[in-house]
Amino acid sequence: MMYLPLVSNKSPNIQQKPFLSSIFAEKFDLLNNGLIFVIYIMTLYKRKMEKYVCNLCGYIYDPAEGDPENGIAPGTPFEDIPDTWTCPACGVGKEHFEVFR
Ligand SMILES: [Zn+2]
Repeated sequence: MMYLPLVSNKSPNIQQKPFLSSIFAEKFDLLNNGLIFVIYIMTLYKRKMEKYVCNLCGYIYDPAEGDPENGIAPGTPFEDIPDTWTCPACGVGKEHFEVFR
């Protein structure tokens, strides 16, 4: 099936296209889309992996580390922590945390 265009006269345009440049165009397109995708993922990742700081005691929640002692697995974004979770240092709720910059 793959070699059909070579013997088919239904698609004569294929042979007239500058072969190399069409390959380049294709690769460039892939590269372009790939880059956009990577940037999109990085943006998502960055947003999700923001650290949060406790307003009361200064404890910093790092999503990369999580809070395993309190059942929060490493890699858990702050948004995904259950509302029942409290600051491991001073015991206040999530509402007392803000994005750490
Ligand atoms: Zn605290």
